[in-house]
Amino acid sequence: MTGIMQGKRGLIMGVANNHSIAWGIAKALAAEGAELAFTFQGEALGKRVKPLAAELGSDFILPCDVEDLASVDATFSAIKERWGKLDFIVHAIGFSDKNELKGLYADTTRDNFTRTMVISCFSFTEVAKRAAELMTEGGSMLTLTYNGSTRVIPNYNVMGVAKAALEASVRYLAADYGPRGIRVNAVSAGPIRTLAGAGISDARAILSWNQRNAPLRKSVTIDQVGSSSLYLLSDLSAGVTGEIHFVDAGYNITSMPTLEALSS
Ligand code: NAD
Repeated sequence: MTGIMQGKRGLIMGVANNHSIAWGIAKALAAEGAELAFTFQGEALGKRVKPLAAELGSDFILPCDVEDLASVDATFSAIKERWGKLDFIVHAIGFSDKNELKGLYADTTRDNFTRTMVISCFSFTEVAKRAAELMTEGGSMLTLTYNGSTRVIPNYNVMGVAKAALEASVRYLAADYGPRGIRVNAVSAGPIRTLAGAGISDARAILSWNQRNAPLRKSVTIDQVGSSSLYLLSDLSAGVTGEIHFVDAGYNITSMPTLEALSS
């Protein structure tokens, strides 16, 4: 097989099932010749991830819960042992208590704020630090964010605050690692029906609003997020770092509902 990712090896974190955004990205990378390793959170998800990885020719799957730093360390030790180096990573991980993904942001509890920030934001920095050590010939890192970082989206609440911090982390990490030839970017995806997406109250209404009001009048798919991510993870984007790239059918540029939506 030949392709733009031929000879490159990377880690995909965040596949829960075949609806996961990370799965869309993994498929796009494998189709271009990338060799992939996967992490999974807990045995139940491991049973789903194993056959998916096999579909893309990978038997390299590792348990990793980012709340447990020892499991993050073990993941990168295993990669070092098997591959020696790493060319790219995909961090598609997010979590918050669904009881706080509704109602007022002001009601967020300290415990859930901290947990949300650690899993959805700081884990990217902890993963990036370990990955950078293995990116001896440069590399590309990618995380996933959402427009709720800079705009108020109903019920997104503490996740929006975590995504704002995640986007700032992308810029700081890009500055830290740029001199080593390592690029750090984020894709800001429009709403997609996934396990994590379903945790947000009224997710269906938000999806439908985006479909009716985005310039392209549709929601995006995991395959569309996959092909844009492929660009950011490949040498096609060799001059791009610290970027938040929207893949949202253009929704982020709008400032008011469409006239069709207003009259329907
Ligand atoms: P998903 O449920 O398929 O993926 C979320 C992943 O996070 C799962 O694989 C889960 O195992 C993992 N995860 C959660 N807590 C973890 C932990 N402690 N340790 C390790 N892994 C953990 O949902 P998704 O929508 O594909 O989410 C992927 C990323 O995309 C998230 O960062 C999410 O915020 C972001 N995103 C999603 C949407 C959307 O509408 N679905 C839009 C923009 C951004």
